[in-house]
Amino acid sequence: MDSPPYSIEAKHLTKMYGRTPAVRDLSFQVRPGEVVGFLGPNGAGKSTTLRILTGLLAATSGEAWINGISVAREPSAIKRQIGYMAENNPLPEDFRVSEYLRFRARLKGVPRRELRSHLDSILETCDLHRKARRKVIGALSKGFRQRVGIADALIGNPQITIMDEPTIGLDPHQVILIRDLIQNLRGRTTVLLSSHILSEVEVCCDRVLILNQGRLVASGTPAELRETFVPGATYRLEVIGQRTVLESLLQKYAADWRHRFDQTDDPKDLRLRISTDERDQEDPTQALTNAIHANPELTLRAWHKIDPNLEDIFLIATRRSWELSEEALRDKNSGNQPEVIS
Ligand code: ADP
Repeated sequence: MDSPPYSIEAKHLTKMYGRTPAVRDLSFQVRPGEVVGFLGPNGAGKSTTLRILTGLLAATSGEAWINGISVAREPSAIKRQIGYMAENNPLPEDFRVSEYLRFRARLKGVPRRELRSHLDSILETCDLHRKARRKVIGALSKGFRQRVGIADALIGNPQITIMDEPTIGLDPHQVILIRDLIQNLRGRTTVLLSSHILSEVEVCCDRVLILNQGRLVASGTPAELRETFVPGATYRLEVIGQRTVLESLLQKYAADWRHRFDQTDDPKDLRLRISTDERDQEDPTQALTNAIHANPELTLRAWHKIDPNLEDIFLIATRRSWELSEEALRDKNSGNQPEVIS
């Protein structure tokens, strides 16, 4: 039998809590082996969606499939294919790490004769194979607890690993360790993870799904999202001199571009971003920077191109969806058909 084209497929998922929609008409796919990041502000519906995909929560309408198997119709079959790390990663405090993972492995049906080698390899992947394996879970730092949660999700070599905020509450150093661990999973399992740490998602994930108010507002590789949401180019300039002098040059050489001055303590320390929608021009700031160089009242201290990061994209994508939903509400109140936001 051909293997299904998607590890995860969601079609028109909607989840209502009473009359409040948590997830609205959500459709997306994840291909085998992809590492996909699920992004969204608090309350966007990420956990709800992940819980529906793992069969822990029933959707109000719509359907989801794991490796082509319907989650609603065969919940126990799909549970065997998924490793899930829940939000807040609840763990029993009194168990030792290796004891707990052993218990979980037995529960997940790992055969006794494979138990030891299987757990050794997971402990090593999650960097729990040294002292940490003997520690009591209650005595572990948050970073190690997260690793125990991920180790638990990896028991039984699931084809798909779903992690809800694996780096929540971690310090930047611990975040890097978990990020490396997720990178390590590449090629072994399909990964869908939710996160609010955009830089981490940008580094770890092949593709990003951005959710806002329960709806999918963007989907693509970071490069595709950049192209869609932040076309053109942004430059950062640092200039010493009078703002009015620089502004007159901006008027002359960069009149069509957007610019924004940063707040600085010294009025002569001029820092600004300028953005242009021109995609094809080689260096649209050339004439401006030449003019700054040629002006004796100004000194160009720094000038470089900035690549928009996922945070810029995220803010634009979610803002756009807020604006569209406000528009839809206005239209509805004025009797027009509400716009469909996708
Ligand atoms: P996220 O994971 O993106 O922060 P959630 O999926 O947890 O978002 O929540 C989506 C929305 O659903 C939120 O408005 C939240 O308050 C609501 N919600 C989540 N769980 C419940 C519940 N058990 N009962 C009622 N409302 C809920």
